[in-house]
Amino acid sequence: IQPTAASDSKTLDIDPRKLVIERTGKPKALKDSKDLVFGANFTDHMLTIEWDKSTGWHEPRITPYQNLSLDPATCVFHYAFECFEGMKAYKDKAGKIRLFRPDKNMERFNKSAARIALPTFGPTNLIDLIAKFAKLESRFIPEERGYSLYLRPTMIGTQKTLGVGPPGSALLYVIASPVGPYYPTGFKAVSLEATDYAVRAWPGGVGDKKLGANYAPCIVPQREAMSRGFQQNLWLFGEEEYVTEVGTMNFFVVIRNKETGQKELITAPLDGTILEGVTRDSVLSLAKEKLAPEGWKVVERKYTMPELAQAAEEGRLIEAFGSGTAAIVSPVRSISWKGKVVNCGLKDHEESGETTMKMKQWMESRQYGDEEHEWSYVC
Ligand code: PMP
Repeated sequence: IQPTAASDSKTLDIDPRKLVIERTGKPKALKDSKDLVFGANFTDHMLTIEWDKSTGWHEPRITPYQNLSLDPATCVFHYAFECFEGMKAYKDKAGKIRLFRPDKNMERFNKSAARIALPTFGPTNLIDLIAKFAKLESRFIPEERGYSLYLRPTMIGTQKTLGVGPPGSALLYVIASPVGPYYPTGFKAVSLEATDYAVRAWPGGVGDKKLGANYAPCIVPQREAMSRGFQQNLWLFGEEEYVTEVGTMNFFVVIRNKETGQKELITAPLDGTILEGVTRDSVLSLAKEKLAPEGWKVVERKYTMPELAQAAEEGRLIEAFGSGTAAIVSPVRSISWKGKVVNCGLKDHEESGETTMKMKQWMESRQYGDEEHEWSYVC
């Protein structure tokens, strides 16, 4: 993939020094933090940066949160020139605002943009601006553990044309939504339905990019799983029924190796059929750091639904969980597959396995800056 703008020396990269700030005259009332609903409330401002192919990136602006005005022929509405990111800002004990691994989100944002012929940018420039934006909205971030500011960087093609081609203009914007803990009353293990009639992603496709167009087609299979009483669906791939992802999370299993008796933390590899989750990468790193010295094997490899079912039957499937920015980790109780129920190792009264719980604590300690770590970016 050839990146478009940032690598094109003739046009301008995003320049944080040119930031123009227009503060709102009507600050919003803060919601009671217990009434926060994911992605339903937004802060006072938004960050916007326009791009056009002759100039490159224009000056960044922080303005009052407002509607966009777009011509009905704008290419985003017709050919889905849209990609996005999901990341969070946390408030630490000293009241400082911290982003979690923003470099990873910027890397993925650039890869998504480049794949749909939208412009790319210098990652540290946008991190700088997002940090300023998050700091400006600091009053919206509750201090309690579990709370954070969900940030949604978005890029759309804005050229007014029905011609199918690379957009000559684009808009990058970032909005922010204060969010509460995913499990306000503690972990709740979810039951999954393995989806074998629809495919989310395929080799050579775009399922490894965060394109809006990847998400709309997933709603019907998810709703079908829900209509049968399952909280999420598990995406399988191919005749082998490879396990890929769960809903909008990456998926991990803990299995005891049949031959060696060793515990293995297994997740699908980055082969184009899963999103490169920032949480996934963090879970793998933490496992290598903290579990491998205890004799665990940490593996990225393809594994199948029949393999999981067999491990469960033999009592070797110890734990399963999803991983993503919203929930961090989400414990899984069971998978319904071909009319069978594959039990993922929890006892009836348990809502989470031990490793899942530990992962959440290890992650939070770095997200909230309890443990000073390079993953945490102080704004
Ligand atoms: N898979 C999909 C399909 C997703 O939408 C997400 C959420 N971004 C994830 C996995 C988890 O990624 P991350 O850990 O970066 O939030």
